[in-house]
Amino acid sequence: MPIYEYACRRCKGEFQTLIMSVSDEETLICPTCGSRRLDRLISRVAYHQSERDRLNSYDPGARRSDSFYKDSRNIGLQAKKRAQQMGVDLGSGFESKLEKLRTDPGSILRDSE
Ligand SMILES: [Zn+2]
Repeated sequence: MPIYEYACRRCKGEFQTLIMSVSDEETLICPTCGSRRLDRLISRVAYHQSERDRLNSYDPGARRSDSFYKDSRNIGLQAKKRAQQMGVDLGSGFESKLEKLRTDPGSILRDSE
């Protein structure tokens, strides 16, 4: 499902939203000011990669540059890819742990103390 980015003409705010059907877009309002005058930022959409796309395009055998590791969204990708290949369901506990690791690495250490 595509995630589109919109810019509000009134407050100039930008936001992203998941569009599942054409009618979704017709009822869209700015989450900041409630305006319906929105522009879809088509050119920005290409930059957004879903977790699934990221996982599918991820090659565990490829050499990775430093920038790969600097991108926190890539943390845990190798483990997920392996699990996907082996058909293992890591469960929601893994997802939340991963999310913590990506957003607040220190919290993992604090939790295990
Ligand atoms: Zn607005």
